[in-house]
Amino acid sequence: MVLHAGRRQQWRDRMLSSSQKARIRLQRYVKFMVMPLQVLSPSRLHAVLATVSDFLRRRKIATLITSTLLVFPFLLTMAFLGESRLEGFDDTPRASDPVITTLLHGEQLVPPPPLPPEYFVSREVEAHRQELGSASREWLKLDADFRQRLLTAYELMVRRGYQMTLLEGYRSPERQALLAKLGAHVTNAGAYQSYHQYGLAADSAFLRDGKIIISEKDPWAMEAYRQFGECAELAGLVWGGRWRMMDLGHVELRKSNILGRR
Ligand SMILES: [Zn+2]
Repeated sequence: MVLHAGRRQQWRDRMLSSSQKARIRLQRYVKFMVMPLQVLSPSRLHAVLATVSDFLRRRKIATLITSTLLVFPFLLTMAFLGESRLEGFDDTPRASDPVITTLLHGEQLVPPPPLPPEYFVSREVEAHRQELGSASREWLKLDADFRQRLLTAYELMVRRGYQMTLLEGYRSPERQALLAKLGAHVTNAGAYQSYHQYGLAADSAFLRDGKIIISEKDPWAMEAYRQFGECAELAGLVWGGRWRMMDLGHVELRKSNILGRR
């Protein structure tokens, strides 16, 4: 009986058990996977490459056009992706804690009532911070996002038993220049070199027994600063306590394209 090859295969397959069929399928699969490796032995690979390069050499223009057509959409996509990534890029950290998320994105937090001016010219305050009497403590002069984050940090501190107070928020370029003249112990930044000028930085201290506490030598204050740094970072702010020249009461919100930072 002469059977066509395909029909012979079908007939044989019907006779086999399922495990035999599975074994045969596996053998075919392995053979199929190994075949390209056999075909591409070093000498054959060399021959294939020589043929391809010879083909490309003979059709220079066609090759150029084809490769351009293949690469161009990819480059175009990358260019657009790059642009949108820069524009929409927000490098501020996101809070993952549900309490902080609610504070940050819930209703607008209300700033604490302003303290009388004499609080900021006491001997204790003057010993640590000069020229605070003329500093701005207007919450509305701060960037809205920064304000909400700072108030979130304040609220977290209240829950830890600390009452915060704003020493200085927005700082005009003129005032920044004046402070820079006082020396490096006051500030290293000249006009427009500080986040204070963009309403994106603030200096805070603590209220204890009706007095502003700034001292960094007081162990109670040191612990308070450590906790404040923790709360500020939870709210997505950068804390000056981590800097080489520590500025324990300072926090800022980094934003794209401000002070040359992306
Ligand atoms: Zn500051």
